[in-house]
Amino acid sequence: MKTVCEKAREIPLVWEGDICVLGGSATGVFAAIRAARMGARVAIIERQNYFGGTATAGLVNIWHSMLDFDYKEQVIAGLSSEVINALEKEGQARVCQNRNVANRFNPIALVRQLDKMVQQEGIYTLFHTMYAGVDTDGDKVDCIFIQNKDGRGAIKAGFYVDATGDGDLLRDLKVPRYYNATVQPPTTAFLLNGETSGKVIEWAITNHGEEFGLDDDWGWFGPVPGLPGISFRADNHVFGMDLSKADDLTKAELEGRRRAFALEALLKKYVSPNYAIVNLCSAIGIRETAHYETRFKANADDLLLGKRYDDAILQGTYRTDIHHPDDNGITFKELDGSLDICYGKGERRIHGNWRKDLGLDDDYARYYQIPFSTLVLEKWENVIPAGRMINADEGAFGALRVMINTNQMGEAAGVACALCLDQNTSMQALDGRLVRAALRKGGSAL
Ligand SMILES: Cc1cc2nc3c(=O)[nH]c(=O)nc-3n(C[C@H](O)[C@H](O)[C@H](O)COP(=O)(O)OP(=O)(O)OC[C@H]3O[C@@H](n4cnc5c(N)ncnc54)[C@H](O)[C@@H]3O)c2cc1C
Repeated sequence: MKTVCEKAREIPLVWEGDICVLGGSATGVFAAIRAARMGARVAIIERQNYFGGTATAGLVNIWHSMLDFDYKEQVIAGLSSEVINALEKEGQARVCQNRNVANRFNPIALVRQLDKMVQQEGIYTLFHTMYAGVDTDGDKVDCIFIQNKDGRGAIKAGFYVDATGDGDLLRDLKVPRYYNATVQPPTTAFLLNGETSGKVIEWAITNHGEEFGLDDDWGWFGPVPGLPGISFRADNHVFGMDLSKADDLTKAELEGRRRAFALEALLKKYVSPNYAIVNLCSAIGIRETAHYETRFKANADDLLLGKRYDDAILQGTYRTDIHHPDDNGITFKELDGSLDICYGKGERRIHGNWRKDLGLDDDYARYYQIPFSTLVLEKWENVIPAGRMINADEGAFGALRVMINTNQMGEAAGVACALCLDQNTSMQALDGRLVRAALRKGGSAL
């Protein structure tokens, strides 16, 4: 690639404070809120015009179960619980005892709820603002650069949380990164007026998909609390692209939207003329891009067998859920050993038991944990990642990638930054057991 040289210039220092959070999905927002509640001065920058990331801009409206596998003990609480309780009171969330659905909410109501919570905590916010570069001093980040309607600016903080999903700050810091063999494909989600069952879609696509350039894909859908008659649809995948790259991201947006509109046209023609997309995600939903190395790599064996840690910062029950990168299948593995592989809208299934395959017949774990070191980088003293860039093999990532888990990573990152500031120490020197204790004190079920 040819290069040009950008001239050095003075730029304004827009904000100075304790902690800067890059990216405003619930992961970033929860990091910011936790740190602010521990007394830190916090800023959050988000490239879109509202908080929530995939849950709002991507319209994905399910946070999975906060109970253990037997629905006996609450193993997740904290800010996820606070948000769902607030939305449920307003009729904007529905809670049920189903591990794979559990907490459905209205994504538009989540936008309002996150706005409210961030403002209540006095967190300095910049929307329409991209993280755009970094300056370092030894093993520390000195400041980050942002780009928005004011042009280029700088932010200086004691600590930085990278909650950009793709790990944009980690990329610029040249933290070692890797891609899993099964990079999960993205989906363009939308809200449709009217319900359609999987059977209707299967029939429509099998018989008329070719006419609209649609293949038999695996997707899911469901109601949206607070929006009667509207359903959430995640019916398509876009295969073979790396969405951390600008060109692929653009192509995937175009292809995802083409598929969404093609399905709408097909339903209008062959099922009912009344179907219409009433809300299209403002950003394609990205399941996975690069992962970055930290002190501990989460792995499927430890996770699904329920290994315990004194410095656990996350607990979960959601299954390993891997959307295949190259066909229309999904592989699910549950804590109790169930293994399902589903293909296409017709949900053709292969059943098995991964525990029996390993020769295990002891009791299964009711929930899993990951330790604090999963979030701790080897080098940068004042940076912590949180979110889907997590250091995890494909099986562990399949479970950890869901929001009930990324939310907890955010809370842990915020708490860790606040503790480091308090103790005047680096992320690497911080005792993870203190992070766990502070998370519990702030409402987590750890
Ligand atoms: C279609 C689909 C369905 C899914 N279904 C479920 C489900 O039912 N339940 C579930 O829990 N999970 C589900 N997932 C997975 C889950 O939604 C994601 O793994 C999770 O939301 C990732 O969170 P994150 O905070 O790491 O990243 P993101 O949600 O991608 O958030 C990153 C945030 O950072 C911002 N950002 C990025 N770069 C910059 C930058 N340079 N400067 C400033 N801001 C930036 C983005 O705008 C965004 O707000 C699904 C995912 C998809 C795509």
